[in-house]
Amino acid sequence: MNFDQIKNLDDAYGAEVFARFPVAFVGGKGATLVDTEGKEYIDFGAGIAVNIFGACDEGWKSAVIDQLNKIQHVSNYYYCEPQAKLMELLCEKTGARRVFFGNSGAEANECALKAARKYSFEKYGAGRSRIISLNGSFHGRTLFTLTATGQDSFHKYFDPFVPEVVSADANINAIKKAADGKACAVIIECVQGESGVNALDKNFVKALEAYCKENDILLICDEVQTGNGRTGTLYAYEQYGISPDIVTTAKGLGGGLPIGACLFFHKTEHVLTAGDHGSTFGGNPVCCAGAVNVLERLDEECLMEVRAKSEYMRTKLRAIDGVKEVTGLGLMIGLSIDKSPKEIAKACLKKGLLVLTAHDRLRIVPPLNIGKTEIDEGLTILREVLKA
Ligand SMILES: *Cc1c(COP(=O)(O)O)cnc(C)c1O
Repeated sequence: MNFDQIKNLDDAYGAEVFARFPVAFVGGKGATLVDTEGKEYIDFGAGIAVNIFGACDEGWKSAVIDQLNKIQHVSNYYYCEPQAKLMELLCEKTGARRVFFGNSGAEANECALKAARKYSFEKYGAGRSRIISLNGSFHGRTLFTLTATGQDSFHKYFDPFVPEVVSADANINAIKKAADGKACAVIIECVQGESGVNALDKNFVKALEAYCKENDILLICDEVQTGNGRTGTLYAYEQYGISPDIVTTAKGLGGGLPIGACLFFHKTEHVLTAGDHGSTFGGNPVCCAGAVNVLERLDEECLMEVRAKSEYMRTKLRAIDGVKEVTGLGLMIGLSIDKSPKEIAKACLKKGLLVLTAHDRLRIVPPLNIGKTEIDEGLTILREVLKA
């Protein structure tokens, strides 16, 4: 199909929830994508931080195909080798004790929030079910995670919401006030992605950890976007020197296949028991095989390269005319610019560069294995577009 044929079908039949850019990708290699007309693009978006090793990575692809040649799905009534291996890898690399698999970031967070309520109920009884999230956060589109998303714009039309879920500013007094003796958990993104690639203040996060520990409030790190090497460490919380009780991740974990994980550390390791939670597709063996390949490769050498590329890109970005501020961590980069981010993203697309937006910023989250030539080509386009 050519582009117009695809677009006409989508326009006629798709739920109208996406404001799509006028392009359809049919292939690619690494950080270079190809559209229906054969035009090439440098990819600074990685499918929203999903294609962690870019398009059609050979090692990842063969891990996935090997599993496809064995079996595509088994029910969670039975044991499953790729799932077991992935659990072990996640726990060995983080110190987590147990893992639950879902299919998305929202599901990973849904699991974390349910587990937090159960932890508190079993220990303290009713009246301590409050979940606190931060203003500007994004935690997903299910009703529980949407309620926890601290941005009013997402809440229009969908009330009534889940009770006892509140948002507070990222300062410790606001958190204490919101908790009011009724909180079982606080959920944070160390770098808020959707709302503009804002890294949380280290002192606040340390103070939050101390407050949560003192009051037996669970600290949940939503690493759906920041996770899996994106920020230059396996998970972003490592750079904050904290030990969360639950960590959730998704986006980059499967290297492009849908998988979410909820990691339970020692306090929460035995909270969920048989029947408390589940998922038909969660931990799908093909997705797990892809994720095993991703995690095995995210070693110290790979993470050092991510940090080096981050430094390289940030230095070049700061020198571009029209870039006011460069935010975020590692290869999760926000750019404050003096023009409309949406318009700049559209202009970049025309010239063959994919960038994302996040509120009033541009968001750059390239595949971690993006090459230097691709980085330079992408930056050249961005420079030209911002100048025009
Ligand atoms: C994308 C995202 C989610 C939601 O993930 P889905 O896979 O779309 O459900 C949750 N939290 C954060 C921080 C995200 O960036």
